[in-house]
Formats: sequence, structure tokens, C-alpha cells
Amino acid sequence: MDAIASRIIKARQYAAERDKRLWFNTFKVKIQGEHSDHYVCYDQGAWDCDCEEFQRRSICAHVMAMEEILGEAVEPAMLPIPG
Ligand SMILES: [Zn+2]
Repeated sequence: MDAIASRIIKARQYAAERDKRLWFNTFKVKIQGEHSDHYVCYDQGAWDCDCEEFQRRSICAHVMAMEEILGEAVEPAMLPIPG
């Protein structure tokens, strides 16, 4: 097996086993909202979003969407304080 073929096999294995192999450190993603675009940032477990909801409650639909997409590969966003 040549080097390229073995690399492809390895890559597929990593992708298939991403639940136990892959954790995000940092990223920035643009989410197209209903009215305007928003930017969600993630840095070592700390979430941020430029929307009003996040500024008020430290959680928003944009962050929740990214959590749902990325699952175990990210730390959960801070839960809203009850009341
Ligand atoms: Zn947001």
C-alpha cells in the first residue's frame, strides 16, 4: 500500500471515530440568522456570540445550534441562570 492510500484510510478512520478522537479548541463561525448574520466564537470552552440574546443571557439559538452540530467535541455552553 502506498503512502497516499494509507493516509486516506487513516483519515477515514479518524473521521469515523471523531466522537472519541476530536475536540475543538477554537473556531469562529458565521450563522445566517432570520434578520442578520451572527458570529459565534469558541475558545477553550468559552462561547461568545455577537447577538443581543447572548449579551443578555450568555446563551442563544446560534450557540445552541453549534452545540447540536458539534456534540461532544465542544464544552457545553453556560446554562442560563434560572429566574
Ligand atoms: Zn447568538
